[in-house]
Amino acid sequence: MYPFPFLRYPVFCLFFRPSGMHCWDIHTHHEGQLYSIFQAGGAKIEAGIPISVGIHPWEVAPNWEAAFEKIKLDAAQNPCVLAIGEAGFDRLKGPEIPLQKAAFYAQASLAAQLEIPLILHCVKTHDLLMEYLKSTKNPPFILWHGWNQKPELARQLLSFPVFFSFGKQLLQPNSNAAHWLSACPADRVFFETDDSALEIAAIYQAASLILQLPEVVLAERVIANWNAISKRMIS
Ligand SMILES: [Zn+2]
Repeated sequence: MYPFPFLRYPVFCLFFRPSGMHCWDIHTHHEGQLYSIFQAGGAKIEAGIPISVGIHPWEVAPNWEAAFEKIKLDAAQNPCVLAIGEAGFDRLKGPEIPLQKAAFYAQASLAAQLEIPLILHCVKTHDLLMEYLKSTKNPPFILWHGWNQKPELARQLLSFPVFFSFGKQLLQPNSNAAHWLSACPADRVFFETDDSALEIAAIYQAASLILQLPEVVLAERVIANWNAISKRMIS
């Protein structure tokens, strides 16, 4: 519920900027941002930073199992590994699909086992995601990052534990991302900067204009949404 119905946005926003509330960036390739999950890749990470670890579909090598063993160890031992990923499928880039599938299935079952979300990269392959979701008894919570697909597909995904992370596309008012954000169930929403040069504040501002909700409400929502689907919580 909007707490002060007599104060219409943006007046609310001007006087009550989010102060104690953290606008989490759920997926970024830029290290060193506060309240963000850094996509670690193979980089050497400073201890104590929230990260996601995984094998990107572009980088699945024929001997990916060796890299996966290390990821399994890292993810099990380091409580700062908040998510597995980004993992997924891509028909435009990367090795052949069977290899991508094998690496994705292994990473998805690791995320499910650790009870942390999987950050999904999915390009021209939503059929493969559907195949996975329909054939798996215990899928992890999946965050489709950089969501900018048709709302019809989004609606289909609502029967599965799939969540939507919105990024720079929200700044284009007619994008699929902007359209779906207005219709998307509130408990499925996350925000991210990914590899863009934008600050996460710009994404929250755009979302706040689309939803006509103060940023602080969105910030609280993202934290609550995360904590509802992950054993490794944020605040
Ligand atoms: Zn990314």
